[in-house]
Amino acid sequence: MKVQYKLSIPSPENHLANVKLTSEKEAKDSQLKLFIPSWSPGSYLMREYGRNIRWLKVENSKGERLYTEQIDRGIWLIDWDKSDVVNKDDQSFQVEYEIYCHELTVRTSHIDRSHAFIHGPSIFMGILDKQIKDPTLEVIINPLWSKISTGLKDISPKRDQFLYTAEDYDTFIDAPLEIGCHETDGFMIDGIPHELAFYGSSTLHEHKMKEDIKKVVDHIQKTMGGMPYEKYCFMTHLAPGLFGGLEHLNSTALQFCSYSLTDKKGYNEWLELVAHEYFHLWNVKRIRPVELGPFDYTKEALTKMHWLTEGLTSFMDQLFIFRTDFYSLQDYLDCIKTNINRYLSIPGRKFHSLEDSSFNAWIKLYRADENHNNSSISYYLKGGLVFFALNILMADKDKSVLDLVKVLWQRYLDKPEVGVTEDEVFNLLNDLVGREIT
Ligand SMILES: [Zn+2]
Repeated sequence: MKVQYKLSIPSPENHLANVKLTSEKEAKDSQLKLFIPSWSPGSYLMREYGRNIRWLKVENSKGERLYTEQIDRGIWLIDWDKSDVVNKDDQSFQVEYEIYCHELTVRTSHIDRSHAFIHGPSIFMGILDKQIKDPTLEVIINPLWSKISTGLKDISPKRDQFLYTAEDYDTFIDAPLEIGCHETDGFMIDGIPHELAFYGSSTLHEHKMKEDIKKVVDHIQKTMGGMPYEKYCFMTHLAPGLFGGLEHLNSTALQFCSYSLTDKKGYNEWLELVAHEYFHLWNVKRIRPVELGPFDYTKEALTKMHWLTEGLTSFMDQLFIFRTDFYSLQDYLDCIKTNINRYLSIPGRKFHSLEDSSFNAWIKLYRADENHNNSSISYYLKGGLVFFALNILMADKDKSVLDLVKVLWQRYLDKPEVGVTEDEVFNLLNDLVGREIT
């Protein structure tokens, strides 16, 4: 199906977005189901984004209301047979809804007079069991603001228009948008543009942030054998106390404490976060467990393999910062020592394996309470240490975890449509270093 989205934010002080979705159904369909995701890939918690919808209406192209009924928490049924309309053969329809956006995280949307951060799954509806091809998004920009940063493909015909497209619904909602008057900068690597967007507290400090991000990005892309995208966008929110990141196919949303940037330790942790989310464009956005994509956004995607998605990425992010000389060898070993001490201090390590921890991410790690450390262990922490230990073991065979990453990447290139199974990963490792290590 073809779908055109239109986003407008006429009164940002109310934290409300107005979304219009225009499409045309096939004549044989008398019903369609609209849905809004309940969760975001990369963040394993049912967030029930439908709870933020204030009102919704569906009309045909003549402006006649179509029968619409909510049938689940985030699902609405449109029924043409039950609709009291003059022209039953009108296949066109327009969905319009208003949605509240006032949570400043990397996996929610946030609107106020200073900006709009639009996180796709939290705001854009899809059509259940239908493939949306080449969706377009027109943003009617509020006069308060002047620019948009996003990984979406820009097809704006004029300078004062903001029109974007993506391959399908999944890639469309995967790309967040930062809309406002934020600071922007950028750099090129091998002719590919990388945009930096900073919203929030001043980025003035002694570090050369653009040069340092470029150094990290260039190192990682060279390690991985090139960049599998046409452009990349780093969207960063800086404010006291913020921390978080979410990976996307050709962009990332980052949040970091502006105060922490001022000391070397905090700044290097910021670069770790940059490396972590950037490396995710390979590991989890492309190389991924078989359960993680294509997605059903209405229910949990359970996997026992977050030791691969987050454990490997956590190991690699610190290694990349060491390999780019931001960490000395002593700094790097201090990081590992801190990780080991943290691991040993968590009683839950005795009760949960990495697989248990992964499988329960939705109800344990993402809903951590006062008992969490007593009953579970983070797959980021333990997974990272497992890959650190594996790296040492592989050295006996003149191999490293990087060799494993490269064969996993080749496996993705050979069969991108299907994620990997645990057995496949172990077989690839076995081929590299033999069964006694695997
Ligand atoms: Zn991660």
